[in-house]
Amino acid sequence: MAVLPIVKYGADVLRRPTDPVAGIDEPLQKLIDDMVDTMYAAPGVGLAANQVGVSKRLMIIDLSVGKRPGELHVFINPQITAAEGEITEEEGCLSIPDFVEVVTRPERVRLRYLDRNGEEREMWGEGLMARAMCHEIDHLNGTLFVDHLRGFKRDRILKKISKLAKSGMWG
Ligand SMILES: [Zn+2]
Repeated sequence: MAVLPIVKYGADVLRRPTDPVAGIDEPLQKLIDDMVDTMYAAPGVGLAANQVGVSKRLMIIDLSVGKRPGELHVFINPQITAAEGEITEEEGCLSIPDFVEVVTRPERVRLRYLDRNGEEREMWGEGLMARAMCHEIDHLNGTLFVDHLRGFKRDRILKKISKLAKSGMWG
């Protein structure tokens, strides 16, 4: 088990749509364990594989950040099969640390995916779970939460990031 470096905004791997996971094997299990360690250490409630530099359709969510057993979810090749409602709340990202902004997301989403044993599953997420599911699925498609922002809100964040990058304090 290992804590991996988290890739930050500006890295190509965050912008490429990830490849589907072809087989549930030992290296994949190790990657999942390392991602869990990395998410808990950050700390964060969700992490996509391309955030640790691996372009695979794999993401994890634990709203309790490891505090409550049974709340860790591993989603392999996830797809949204239904979405309902709309809710606007603050959102942040481990790849864009220290920035939060409000983003509108569905209130409920249903995911179809494989669990870490390769079993096909479906799950409804609501509220923060739905938000995390949409945020991580976005990552797997090469999209970041700042892409949902417009105008001043988006410019403000991107300007600050480029300033940090210029002074060597980003990435
Ligand atoms: Zn993120």
